[in-house]
Amino acid sequence: MIFTVKSESETIKLGQEIGAQLSGGEIIELIGDVGSGKTTLTKGIAIGLGITEYIQSPSFTINRVYKARDEITLTHYDFYRLTDAGIMANEMKEVISDNKTVTVVEWAEAVKGVLPIDRVSITISALSEDVRKIEINSGGSKSDKLVEVLKNAFVD
Ligand code: ADP
Ligand code: MG
Repeated sequence: MIFTVKSESETIKLGQEIGAQLSGGEIIELIGDVGSGKTTLTKGIAIGLGITEYIQSPSFTINRVYKARDEITLTHYDFYRLTDAGIMANEMKEVISDNKTVTVVEWAEAVKGVLPIDRVSITISALSEDVRKIEINSGGSKSDKLVEVLKNAFVD
């Protein structure tokens, strides 16, 4: 599934529609260069999860945790420039196996071994200053369901 969005607010709106479909247990990997819009999309996902708190880039803290609607927790990771996730990898195993947690990961290379194949991968590429291509792919049957729901949600 590929979307083209023309502004930051359209990216947030897309994220919001994704967030609205989540029920916990989903693992979402965000792929794209610095400034492509991974954290911006996460802001939208958070809104769709009913989070009103400001979503800050977790670059320096590696992860940030937010209380969402319906007793869901959003855990947002960013492993930028980290080659070895160390103890975080073990902690993350627990987080991703919790079916009330939505896990969003930027720069996942350092935890590739920990992330399940069955995850949703979202690749963002900048086509111009404000235009982004956003491609959503599923790695397995559980993620297929979410992608299917999204497909239906986005049918005009
Ligand atoms: P990343 O987390 O991928 O490094 P950010 O979301 O932090 O990226 O930053 C994206 C930057 O690009 C922001 O400054 C934002 O205002 C800008 N931007 C411009 N157009 C878009 C768009 N369509 N979607 C997302 N961000 C956009
Ligand atoms: Mg970011």
